[in-house]
Amino acid sequence: MPTLVKNELNVYECAEARFEMAAAKLGLEDDLYRYLRFPNKEITIYIPVTMDDGRLEVFTGYRVQHSLVRGPGKGGIRYAPDVTLDEVRALASWMTWKCAVVNIPFGGAKGGIICDPQKMSQKELERMTRRYTAELTDWIGPERDVPAPDLGTNEKVMAWVMDTYSMHMRHTVTAVVTGKPLDLGGSRGRREATGRGVHFVCDKAIEKLGMKREECRVVIQGFGNVGSMAAMLLSEAGYKIVGVSDIHGGLYNENGFNVPAVIEWVHGQRKPLPDFPGGGAKMAGQELLFQPCEILIPAAIENQITSANAHRVQTRILCEGANGPTTPPADDVLRDKGVFVLPDILANAGGVTVSYFEWVQDRQGFFWRESEVNERLKDVMERSFDEIVRYAESHGVNNRIAAYMVAIDRVAFALKLRGLYA
Ligand code: NAD
Repeated sequence: MPTLVKNELNVYECAEARFEMAAAKLGLEDDLYRYLRFPNKEITIYIPVTMDDGRLEVFTGYRVQHSLVRGPGKGGIRYAPDVTLDEVRALASWMTWKCAVVNIPFGGAKGGIICDPQKMSQKELERMTRRYTAELTDWIGPERDVPAPDLGTNEKVMAWVMDTYSMHMRHTVTAVVTGKPLDLGGSRGRREATGRGVHFVCDKAIEKLGMKREECRVVIQGFGNVGSMAAMLLSEAGYKIVGVSDIHGGLYNENGFNVPAVIEWVHGQRKPLPDFPGGGAKMAGQELLFQPCEILIPAAIENQITSANAHRVQTRILCEGANGPTTPPADDVLRDKGVFVLPDILANAGGVTVSYFEWVQDRQGFFWRESEVNERLKDVMERSFDEIVRYAESHGVNNRIAAYMVAIDRVAFALKLRGLYA
């Protein structure tokens, strides 16, 4: 049956469509369905910021807490010019389901500010972040809602959030955010965590499909935190990275890239990826998605694989490093093509898993070795992969719907145990 969404490019509609499909398959009780269908709270903040030239600019920001049923809200803060409330809502709901898929005791939340961080100075970004955080002090906190980095934000931004919140609380509260610098209570392995999780689930998928690492050509869209770390870890493990891209465009090289050299070019020298001198055919970033490969990893933004282009994808495995890169109608096309999909709420859950470890370490004031972090992450990712794939097979659904069903079932079960305060 085709998946129906009015506007497949509205990520919140897509998130709702998947929730509804999974809830229906699960036979979710009416009351629980109605309760879980809506976000718990949404806040819009108009953030005044004095710009470097003395002008006052007012930015619009959001924080959405989708569900606090299984624990404090958890989810990143996004700085981008095209942030919308619907996008933040969708991302918050995905955090709820993602935390439940990997079975960590968090709910789901997300934040965003409409701004262009590339065009702002560090001082402007700092003032904007601090005012946004100050407005959120009654909403966030280690027991309430714990932000983290996302597109356009990083460790430095998290340090400002932590410091601002701490100033208002009158004592240092490291556990209010994750993804912080190591010296401020960050966790070893957090920076690599999402890419490492991607690597672990790719290993599991090829093992399941009887493929070998050396025979796997990997194409990665996006070369930020997730894309570049996934590229590095996969190439170290023996996969061949044949396609890479960033916002400036893509490169495809059948012989494989020297990934550390690309990382040095993009992150060390801060040059546009398509100008990398180490070989490869230049192409538009989106074209890269349609090049032949065994593993395709969208790790940039939403709505990249849609009903308009899914038929052009030439991969055996789609591993979603980004949130929401594939629309529901595209899922139908990929299913018919026999693509093995590792859905975002499983594939990129390594980040939130190590965020959970960071929160635990901050609260204990006791920090783990990197090997310990990575081993625990491997356990979580492999167990979650096995649970979702087994569930998909035993219920005759695809991996994505299986992930949603497992997640909704876990949240609904917790909700039933708590009782409906309604
Ligand atoms: P980032 O800001 O570090 O990097 C984003 C990358 O995507 C950059 O290389 C940018 O140039 C590129 N990009 C942007 N628009 C593009 C386009 N149109 N075509 C090709 N490339 C484009 O962000 P990130 O933290 O790596 O996040 C990437 C995705 O992964 C997002 O969807 C995010 O929500 C998701 N995610 C991130 C984490 C995390 O731990 N950072 C965890 C889970 C999911």
